[in-house]
Amino acid sequence: MLYTEKKPIAEILELLKGSRNIFLVACNGCPEACETGGKAALEEIEKELKTNAKTVSGSVLIDFLCNKMLVTTRLFRCSQQINQADCILVLSCGIGVQAVSSILDKPALPALDTISMGGFQGLWPSSERCEECGQCYLGLTGGICPITFCSKSLLSGPCGGTKDGKCEVDSDRDCGWHLIYERLKKIGKLDVLKKPAKPRNYQRMLTSKELRKKTFYDIEE
Ligand code: SF4
Ligand code: SF4
Repeated sequence: MLYTEKKPIAEILELLKGSRNIFLVACNGCPEACETGGKAALEEIEKELKTNAKTVSGSVLIDFLCNKMLVTTRLFRCSQQINQADCILVLSCGIGVQAVSSILDKPALPALDTISMGGFQGLWPSSERCEECGQCYLGLTGGICPITFCSKSLLSGPCGGTKDGKCEVDSDRDCGWHLIYERLKKIGKLDVLKKPAKPRNYQRMLTSKELRKKTFYDIEE
């Protein structure tokens, strides 16, 4: 299981700046257990968005956003509502956001942060991975994880060593930042590269005592 926490609403609204009509996707797997996904969280975020002058074109609850076939099939059924939306807000771990982003040609933005608990990564059978960094950046990188796709986990652009779209560390590997640039260009969001990424707080990689208490039965004091 991957543990998630909801981002502060101010951060979500900042990600949604310039988008008026939103389509919501929520995972009913791990986030439901953390109370960050499932039906209740979907209803709560919908209310919050409406209070903040946003329109919701539709929503879908999917049992496991890390199951490629399931996600593709369920999103296909919502095509009309998705086409009406400016972007997709996803209530799931980083894998789920990347899954949605890889299927749709629309910005897919994370409403949650994935917290390190040493949990199982999900069932997504593709190259997307989440390192549970605790402060999801996918809203600034076109839904491609800069931590796992860039060999140096750079947050603010390429290192300068990239050549012909390949990584200088391993020429068999695509440069993560080349992929991010191409993806942002495709969805018309290159302007987000002008915003500096929030510095990484490595403490978010550690499981806090409070969280361990909340999630394990027999933690010692
Ligand atoms: S930025 Fe990457 S590692 Fe961090 S939570 Fe998002 S998907 Fe996971
Ligand atoms: S070449 Fe690209 S993927 Fe490789 S380390 Fe530099 S920025 Fe990261």
